[in-house]
Amino acid sequence: MTSGERKRILILGSTGSIGRSACSCVRRFRERFEVAGLAAGSNIDLLAEQVTEFAPSAAYITAATNADALRDRFGGNVKVYDGSDGASGLERIVEECDYDILLNALVGAVGFRPTVAALKRGKRVALANKESLVIGGDYIRTIIGQNQRGAIPALLPIDSEHSAILQCLPQGGADGSVESIIITASGGPFRNQPEEALASVTPEQALNHPTWSMGKKITVDSSTLMNKGFEVIEAHHLFSLPYDKLRVCVHPQSIIHSLVEFHDGAVIAQLGLPDMELPIQYALSWPHRLPIGGKRLRLSDIRSLEFFEPDMGKFPCLSLCIEAGRIGGTAPAAVNAANEVAVDLFLNKRIGFTDIARIVESALKGHSPVKADSVEVIEGVDREVRERVSRRDMVC
Ligand code: NDP
Ligand code: MG
Repeated sequence: MTSGERKRILILGSTGSIGRSACSCVRRFRERFEVAGLAAGSNIDLLAEQVTEFAPSAAYITAATNADALRDRFGGNVKVYDGSDGASGLERIVEECDYDILLNALVGAVGFRPTVAALKRGKRVALANKESLVIGGDYIRTIIGQNQRGAIPALLPIDSEHSAILQCLPQGGADGSVESIIITASGGPFRNQPEEALASVTPEQALNHPTWSMGKKITVDSSTLMNKGFEVIEAHHLFSLPYDKLRVCVHPQSIIHSLVEFHDGAVIAQLGLPDMELPIQYALSWPHRLPIGGKRLRLSDIRSLEFFEPDMGKFPCLSLCIEAGRIGGTAPAAVNAANEVAVDLFLNKRIGFTDIARIVESALKGHSPVKADSVEVIEGVDREVRERVSRRDMVC
């Protein structure tokens, strides 16, 4: 392969769990991928290490003082952006940097504008930041254009369930032969806890995920099953399927990453050990596969695979999120904003675990949804709900 065919990747959130694994993929295939730019929130030490290793032409870090330190260290070789104008530095690196694929591994609604900016430039987005589609899926689909078969390949999912679905679908799209999609869920650390015990579980317990190692926010979202609700909305937009065709199944071993049921009764699943390197690499190499060494799935080691219906009563965030998806418009943006603030309050021990669902429910009930047809409308709802929840005038 010649250097002209190398894909240039702009990695947002490079210091996080997905971002670091994305860097490993580039490291593994230097002849195929190169890093065009890197963006981080606050971890300047790791970002500087990554800039030294990958020599990108652009970097972003939120604090202006950190950005100055990078400018001093790397001189004119790297154009350094910062967040002194709010989130616009992130948007500018996406608009100005020279790249082929944006890999968006930011956490939370802050990832929305960069996704939009890349798609408006006609760039492909390898998407880990599911919040982009949760809050702005309708709007994002209008940017991509009318595509009956969903958002592929403008958006390629990194989320393991959606990567699994993509791998099960012929030619990457859901056509009329798809009867349903079954999104698997580990069930999180509290799957076997009695419902009465949930009010007093601690952040440390919520962060102890049974099968995946991930950033803090998504780990808490997995423990409430909010993450699975987000993934239902994400699948709705990615594959252009109605909510009636999207189901959730608890599968504690996290070996089957999701399944597609076809109208002739065939069910195709993608299996693998729980490791994000495969879905990240597949999003970068799609529609081709590249090798990954290391541990292999041995079914005889796993021995048994279990499946259960999700307990919607015990984990109300799942049904609240799906309800918001069905309502549509800005309802999912309201749920997402309330959840982001509530998860932060929970991690800082200012509210209990079950208050997260109460806050989200109150935000959804108190919100009058409108069409989510512009960045301004979506961000306006995001801001308003955050302010309301932060003022704690929600039922708690
Ligand atoms: P992490 O918390 O590990 O990483 C988040 C990254 O975003 C860090 O690099 C962080 O920088 C950066 N960041 C956070 N806030 C800002 C900001 N305001 N401005 C600029 N950079 C910011 O999260 P994960 O990697 O776990 O998750 C990332 C996304 O991928 C989420 O949307 C998650 O739902 C999704 N996802 C994650 C999976 C996983 O296995 N981790 C699986 C499937 C989806 P810094 O640390 O330097 O402050
Ligand atoms: Mg997932």
